[in-house]
Amino acid sequence: MIPRFKPSLGWGELIAAFRFSRKDDVQRFEQAFAKKMQQRHAIAFPYGRTGLMLLLEAMGLKGREIICPAYTCVVVPHAIVFSGNEPVFIDCNEGDFNMDIDKASKTITDKTGAIIATSIFGYPADLDKLSEIRQMFPHIKIIQDCAHSFAAEWKGCPVHKAGDAAIFGLNISKIITSIFGGMVTTDNDELAVRLKNLRDERLKPATFMKSLRRLFYLLSVYLAFWEPIYSYVNRLERSGLLNKFVTYYDENVIDMPSDYLKMMSNVEARVGLVQLEKYDNIIRKRKEVALTWRKKLNRIKDIVLPPDVKGATYSHFVCLVKDRDAMLEEYMKKGVQLGTLIDYSIPYMKAYVKWKKGEYPISLEYSHSTVNFPVIRKAMKSYG
Ligand SMILES: *Cc1c(COP(=O)(O)O)cnc(C)c1O
Repeated sequence: MIPRFKPSLGWGELIAAFRFSRKDDVQRFEQAFAKKMQQRHAIAFPYGRTGLMLLLEAMGLKGREIICPAYTCVVVPHAIVFSGNEPVFIDCNEGDFNMDIDKASKTITDKTGAIIATSIFGYPADLDKLSEIRQMFPHIKIIQDCAHSFAAEWKGCPVHKAGDAAIFGLNISKIITSIFGGMVTTDNDELAVRLKNLRDERLKPATFMKSLRRLFYLLSVYLAFWEPIYSYVNRLERSGLLNKFVTYYDENVIDMPSDYLKMMSNVEARVGLVQLEKYDNIIRKRKEVALTWRKKLNRIKDIVLPPDVKGATYSHFVCLVKDRDAMLEEYMKKGVQLGTLIDYSIPYMKAYVKWKKGEYPISLEYSHSTVNFPVIRKAMKSYG
């Protein structure tokens, strides 16, 4: 069976994970990451959300309104709330998965501290509109959430460079991975120093136990995604037995993982270093596969293809469908697992209704009509 996503992990990462630790593993990963992204600084965190939380603090934002998409990963508003700020949710553009920046612009008040412009699923955020906001409100910080948008470009400009800072997620489901982990990049020297100091002050060093746990997690990932095993894992997942392990949010609570304040481990940094070397190759392949899906799915009625945006890098190839469950079943029979990545609109979640202002019809619609196709070459073959 073709899984809904598959980390591009090979022998290189495995060997790197088992190498002896060096004191500067994390630092080397940060330097290589900054170089790849062509940014002056990259600062590593145990999770992307930890990075976002401390970034808001390093920007001096507290008790402020932070504008973010209604249709994004729920860990984003979690980080906003944990940083002592309040989320202001914005619906999507019509026919696009990204936040409607014109709407965002209209919700700006004296309390607004930052805008988190996300390039969801790897579709670049509209940088022209963001730059208009920047000119009108130069004091408002712009944070690029690039957890999905490694290498995504708007008219040739990488989205991560078009703000005060960018955050990246590096968990196992992202385009490149360091097992868990996240990065914040910036060209602002002062902000980088503040953020780094804040991190070193707040985060506890990764213990040997954490490294060991990450190593075991990595091994179990290799095993779970091994073809003969995967369909078994999938059956367990579907039966609900694995719910405890695969569900990453509870709609009633705003929380963080128990180890969100423990530094990235050396094991993770070494895996991340190997992944960075494969970065260009991974992105190129994903674009190819997305293009092929576009051609194949074009012929099928009842599937609305995602916008064909130049500069998109397809962390996910997401379509709109009428009957999602039927579609999942149909593809499962063909041996292709489809995903339903963001199956919620955040302001409608119990934990967030107190920040719900009005309705968010487009994101609500997406929450039950989007499916993502595996951006995996093999999926094309088995689909025929
Ligand atoms: C994955 C992700 C993040 C960061 O997630 P962590 O698990 O905290 O590393 C942030 N934003 C979006 C949109 C994501 O998908």
